[in-house]
Amino acid sequence: MTDTQYVAPTTVDEAVSAYAAGGDTARILAGGTDLLVQMGAGMIRPGLIVDIKKIDELNSVTETADGGFVVGAAVAGAVLAEHPTFGKVWPGVLEGLNLIGSTQVQGRASAGGNLCNGSPAGDAVPAMVAADAIVTIQGPKGRREMAVADFPTGPGRTSLEAGEILISFTLPPRPAGSSDAYLRMIPRTEMDIAVVGVGVSLTMENGTCTAARVGLGAVAPTVLLVEDAANALIGSTLDDAALDTAAAACSAACNPIDDKRGTIAYRTKVAGVLLKRSANIAADRAKGV
Ligand SMILES: Cc1cc2nc3c(=O)[nH]c(=O)nc-3n(C[C@H](O)[C@H](O)[C@H](O)COP(=O)(O)OP(=O)(O)OC[C@H]3O[C@@H](n4cnc5c(N)ncnc54)[C@H](O)[C@@H]3O)c2cc1C
Repeated sequence: MTDTQYVAPTTVDEAVSAYAAGGDTARILAGGTDLLVQMGAGMIRPGLIVDIKKIDELNSVTETADGGFVVGAAVAGAVLAEHPTFGKVWPGVLEGLNLIGSTQVQGRASAGGNLCNGSPAGDAVPAMVAADAIVTIQGPKGRREMAVADFPTGPGRTSLEAGEILISFTLPPRPAGSSDAYLRMIPRTEMDIAVVGVGVSLTMENGTCTAARVGLGAVAPTVLLVEDAANALIGSTLDDAALDTAAAACSAACNPIDDKRGTIAYRTKVAGVLLKRSANIAADRAKGV
C-alpha cells in the first residue's frame, strides 16, 4: 500500500497540473469535511491530495462592477458570512451554505466541496441553482463554464472530467426588489441530512412576482431546477392559488428515496410546503419587510 502524497499549490495552473498528474486516485482537498471523513472511514485512500486552500482565486469573494459576485470554490461558509454585502444580496445562498453541520464545520466547508461531493441533499446547491449561478471549471484542456443546475449528474457524480477543478461560482447582478431564501427539513433540529431542501430566488415589482427560479434538493438523484414551480409564481402576487400551483409542481417533480429519514409520501408533501414558505420569505426580503 502506497502512502498518500500531499501538495498545496498556490496557483490554479500548478493545481491542475498536479491533479492531472496524480491520476485516478488524486483528490482535491477544500475544507475536508467530506473528504477527510470518507478517508477516515476507509471509503477512499487517495494517492495524492491537492490542497486548494492556498490558491487566492479559489479563496476570494469579489463583487463585480455590475453588482454580481464571484465566489471562490473553496471559500468557507463562515468566511462568506463575513463579506460586507454578499449576504444582503444573496441571503438564501448564504443560509444554504451555513446550514451545513455545526459552527466548526462551517469554518471549513465550502460550496465547491458541497457541489463536487455530489450529494443530492447538499444544502448549498438548491439556492445556487435558484440563483442561476454559473461555475467556472479548469482542467488540462483549459477553462469552461456551466450552470450549477447542469453540474450534478447523479448521487456522488458530477460533470467534472478527469483532472478538472471547480474554480468559482458566478452569481448574476440582481434587479431591485430581488431576494432569495433556502429552507430544508431535517428529522432533528440540526446536524442532519436534508430530507427536502428548497431554494427560491425571485423579483417582486409593485407586489407582483416578475422573475423566479426554484431549486429542489434531496428528493431526486440530483438537485432539480423546477421550472413549472417558477412559472406558477411569475406574474402572480404570490396569492394562495399561485403558491398551491407552485407547490404542486414541486411535489410532482419529486422522485425521492424512501428511507429512515422520510418516506416518499412525506418528502413529496414537504417539498410543496417548503416551496410556499421559501417563496414567502424570499418575497418579504425582496420587499424589505
Ligand atoms: C459533522 C458534519 C456535518 C455535516 N452536515 C452537513 C449538512 O448539514 N449539509 C450538507 O450539505 N453537508 C453536510 N456535511 C458534509 C460537508 O460538510 C459538506 O458537503 C461540505 O460543503 C463539503 O465542503 P468541503 O469544502 O469540506 O469539501 P471537501 O471535503 O474538501 O471536498 C468534498 C469533495 O469534493 C471534492 N472537491 C472539493 N473541492 C473541489 C474543487 N474545487 N474541485 C473539484 N473537486 C473538489 C473533494 O475531492 C471531495 O471529493 C457535513 C459534514 C460533517 C463532517
